[in-house]
Amino acid sequence: QASTGDLPAKSHVDDLIADAHARYAGLSDGVVADYIPILAEAEPSWFGLTLVGINGSTHSAGDADITFSIQSISKAFVFALVCEEVGHAAIHDRIGVNNTGLPFNSVMAVELNGGNPMNSMVNAGAIATTALMPGRTIAAKWENIRNGLSRFAGRALEMDDTVYESEMLTNQRNKAIARLLQSYKRLDPDPLDIVDIYTRQCALSVTATDLAIMGSTLANGGVNPITGEQVVSAWASRDTLALLASCGLYERSGEWLFEVGLPAKSGVSGGIVAVAPGKGALGAFSPPLDSAGNSIRGQRACAYLSRSLGLNLFASS
Ligand code: GLN
Repeated sequence: QASTGDLPAKSHVDDLIADAHARYAGLSDGVVADYIPILAEAEPSWFGLTLVGINGSTHSAGDADITFSIQSISKAFVFALVCEEVGHAAIHDRIGVNNTGLPFNSVMAVELNGGNPMNSMVNAGAIATTALMPGRTIAAKWENIRNGLSRFAGRALEMDDTVYESEMLTNQRNKAIARLLQSYKRLDPDPLDIVDIYTRQCALSVTATDLAIMGSTLANGGVNPITGEQVVSAWASRDTLALLASCGLYERSGEWLFEVGLPAKSGVSGGIVAVAPGKGALGAFSPPLDSAGNSIRGQRACAYLSRSLGLNLFASS
C-alpha cells in the first residue's frame, strides 16, 4: 500500500475517517447558527469529513460534497494571500497576531487595544486584512479574493447570493466594527465597501472536500496537491499556520490546541479545516455549534483523527 506523506496506508486512513464519522454522527449537542437568518435553514444532521494528503490522496465520509458558505474559514485564506503581498513585518505591525480572548465579533477587543484589530481571524482583523487585498477598485479586490480562494480549492468557487443577501441585511455589527476601525485610522478604504467584500468572501460556497484541499495547500508549502499550482509561498503558508494555531478557533483556540494539536480555522456555518504541516489537512462540516461558534461534531472528529493518525504537532513520536 502506498502511504500518504507521513500518513498511514490508504485503506487504514479510509477506515479511520469512516470510524470518525460513525462515532460522532449520533451526537446531538450544539445549536445551528441563526444570527445570519439563512444559516438557520441548515440540516443539523449534516456531517461530512475529508482528509487530503499532500500527495493528493483523498479520503471522505458522509456529506463531504454538500456545499455550505465558507464564512470565517475564508479569513485564513485571505490572510495567506494578503500576507504574501504585504509581508511578515507589515502583518505584525498593521494587524497583529495575538488572540483577543474574546468572541469573534467583539467590539470590546478593538476598544481595549486602542483600535488595534488584534488578529486576522476575528472580524475586526479580517475586515482590516480584506482592506489590504490588492486591487485598485472594490470589484478588483473582490475578484482577487475569489480567484485566490479558488486557486486554493483547485476549482472556481462561486458566491451563494442568498447567503450574501441574508448577511447584508443583518450585519450591522460588522459595519460598526469597520466604522470603529476607521475612527482609529486603521481602515483606509471606505468601510462599507470593505464590509461588502468581506461579506462576499464569507458567502463563497465550499464542501468539506474543498476545505481539505485548501488546507492541504497550506500543509504543502503553498502548492495545491491536486493542481500542482503554487498558490502562495512556503513562508506565507507557515505564517498562516502559526496564526491559525493561536487564533483559529477564536477564544477556544487554547483548548483546541490542547486537545487536537493542529492549526485550524472554524466558521459559523459548521466548517472546520485542520492542517497537519507536511502531511495534509482535514475538512469537516456539521452545522451544530458550541457557544463560541465552532462545529461540535467537527471538533470531535478532528480530535479523534489527530490522535488516531498521529497528527498532533506537539507529540514527539
Ligand atoms: N460572516 C460571519 C460574520 O462576519 C462569519 C463569522 C464566523 O464564521 N465566525 O459574522
